[in-house]
Amino acid sequence: MPTLGLVAHDHRKPALVRWAQDHREQLVGWDLCATGTTGALLEKELGRPVKKFLSGPLGGDLQIGTEVAEQRMELLVFFWDPLAAQPHDPDVKALLRVAVLWNVPIAMNEASADLLLRGLAQGDYQRRVPDHTHYRAIWGGK
Ligand code: PGA
Repeated sequence: MPTLGLVAHDHRKPALVRWAQDHREQLVGWDLCATGTTGALLEKELGRPVKKFLSGPLGGDLQIGTEVAEQRMELLVFFWDPLAAQPHDPDVKALLRVAVLWNVPIAMNEASADLLLRGLAQGDYQRRVPDHTHYRAIWGGK
């Protein structure tokens, strides 16, 4: 099954839970993983297992970012808070950065999450995984 990563800042958690409940049936075809608090909340409200990473401020965003960079995530729903500063803002930026870098679809509000989930459910979209070989060669990495 494809994997959906879910992250919501505190003031946006109710909106993410509502969105997940509204899409409960469509989400059956997805493995869910999330930052710690978001995951615990979703697990309780949806009554299904959610793989939980650390809480966002403790490094959970970076762990989700690793899943993205390692090609283990097909969709990221990240309801970040446009009205509150976050102590882990660099991690938030890092997660968004790797998702853009690896061309992983990111939904940052309900409307985009609706559209992306619906679009991916059609099953005919093939995401292009960027070839960063050039950069690896420059950096000497694998
Ligand atoms: P949380 O982390 O799910 O543990 O609250 C989300 C975040 O703040 O990035």
